[in-house]
Amino acid sequence: MKRQDRLIQEKIHDPYYEGKKYAEPTVCGDCRLVYENGRWIEKDQMPENPNIQLCPACRRIKDRCPGGCLYLSGKYFKMCRQNILNLIKNTADQARGKDPTKRIMWQTSTETGLEIATTDGHLARRLGEAIYRSQKGTLDLKYGDEDRLVRVYWCREK
Ligand SMILES: [Zn+2]
Repeated sequence: MKRQDRLIQEKIHDPYYEGKKYAEPTVCGDCRLVYENGRWIEKDQMPENPNIQLCPACRRIKDRCPGGCLYLSGKYFKMCRQNILNLIKNTADQARGKDPTKRIMWQTSTETGLEIATTDGHLARRLGEAIYRSQKGTLDLKYGDEDRLVRVYWCREK
């Protein structure tokens, strides 16, 4: 297949495509978010006889396929790790409050520091920018074209 065709195909078949429409009402079979008026929201009351599907976040979690990855490294990061992790948690909680499909999927130590995977590329970027704003250092972004994964690199040595 030509590259162009392949990209179009991928878009059609992208199971994580965020503009995807679901029948209403649909409930996520995992996290119990409700799809209503075109968005996934948290609700105390479940609708009657809903369709059951996975929301985009739970689908990514199940497939272990993040939308964004943030990489933290440097000596300064190692020294101030707990502060930076708190900042990440607060920023992620805020994002999730606005859109419950934006979540951190995992945090894993790497040789150089820490990898944080998110369900959403914008969230990885937002976390990186929050750290950069408050802690300085350097911030780099790379957009993958094949897998559309957004990679965000933050580093501070001293
Ligand atoms: Zn879900």
